Amino acid sequence: MNSNQPNQTTLLITVIVGAQWGDEGKGKITDFFAGEADYVVRFQGGNNAGHTLVVNNETYKLHLLPSGVLYPNTVSVIGNGVLVDPKVLLEEIEAFEKRGQKLNLKISERAHIIMPYHIFMDEGISQMQGELSAGSTRRGIAPVSADKMYRHGIRVGDLLEPELFKEKLTKAFEFNYNVITKVFNLPCDLKMEDIYNEYLGYGEKLKQYITDTEVELANAYKNNKKILLEGAQGMSLDPDHGMYPHTTSTNNVSGYCEVGAGVGFNCHKKVIGVVKAYMSRVGNSPFVTEMLGDDGEKLRQAGNEFGTTTGRPRRVGWLNLVQLRQTARVSGLTDIAITKLDILTGMPEIKVCVAYEIDGVEYKEMPASLTKIRKAKPIYKTFPGWKVSEIGTYESLPAELKNYLEFIEKEIGVKISIVSLGAQREKTILR
Ligand code: GDP
Repeated sequence: MNSNQPNQTTLLITVIVGAQWGDEGKGKITDFFAGEADYVVRFQGGNNAGHTLVVNNETYKLHLLPSGVLYPNTVSVIGNGVLVDPKVLLEEIEAFEKRGQKLNLKISERAHIIMPYHIFMDEGISQMQGELSAGSTRRGIAPVSADKMYRHGIRVGDLLEPELFKEKLTKAFEFNYNVITKVFNLPCDLKMEDIYNEYLGYGEKLKQYITDTEVELANAYKNNKKILLEGAQGMSLDPDHGMYPHTTSTNNVSGYCEVGAGVGFNCHKKVIGVVKAYMSRVGNSPFVTEMLGDDGEKLRQAGNEFGTTTGRPRRVGWLNLVQLRQTARVSGLTDIAITKLDILTGMPEIKVCVAYEIDGVEYKEMPASLTKIRKAKPIYKTFPGWKVSEIGTYESLPAELKNYLEFIEKEIGVKISIVSLGAQREKTILR
């Protein structure tokens, strides 16, 4: 018997991932489960992601803090797979504490840090890549990921070791500064000494939270604690399985939770894919079901589709089951939470893309080839609209809506177990 395993068979591990391009409403769904969890863990992404939670009519916008922070008895963990901008994190911590709430937060020593030069690098890389970039949020996510792989990245724990920090920073700064000024020819007024002092200061402030979260989580797992792993962004942005290169730079499929939390969960997990009833996208890439013109504008306004982090208007379109089939398969979804159905309420008809037509051939699965995706035309199934006057049980929902949901379920082969018809917790139906 493996002594690192818990000794009971109840579902202890829940993973919540975005099943589209992010902004599906993961914050709300995670919050729904966070209160029951002993630990809520972020395992990938950085402050390029943003969640909005509405609790007791108060709105919380979180970029790096896990959704567990709203529950005093839940430990919130920023795992080693998260890319941490310490300045942004400290601002978020301060804003949170100003509301009079105490944080129960732990940060992995092994998480990599976004440095000021990464922001400059992001600018240079984005300019160089042009149309082929994902439309970076310019938060330094790709450059910090690259530095991690080049092996001159700076980790959270380094901020507590001044000598080692200086040694690493000297190498990393020289590399990045030279690329910024000599390859990208961008002006850059950064000084290594200033960065060194500033970041040691951040280390001092964050020290109380920094620990070996991997060991703590492994012990929690062994001791039958409930662990909720909270994904950021969405699977179509995954660098391996998304629409590469129109992706982000950390994996966001559910399997990455073991890498980014640093624990091997050798057990059956509940994996909830959060699916918005329509699609939205920030940045470049083909968008096969995109709604342009007035229809798109109406949907964008109705759904308030503007970035939490950047404020950028999001592109919007109909639900795409070709993308969702891939998400369900790669992330091993056990459940779907479908959100924002209220935004479609009242529309005369609702479309769902069931397949692509590419050069006269029908595709039900996502092609890897960007050329094919660029040429793809959506094949739609059209449903009559519905009106929901009050939210009771699943059975009491209009037949048209249930018909739509059960069609999606059948096509994807995953149960829709959570139906969301509004931002508030009480506008949720569990099946
Ligand atoms: P996340 O990053 O996936 O958490 O998504 P965001 O927080 O960026 O966007 C989701 C937005 O939709 C938030 O403002 C939520 O409060 C809101 N939301 C979540 N579920 C629903 C829903 O069922 N209906 C409506 N109208 N809003 C929702």
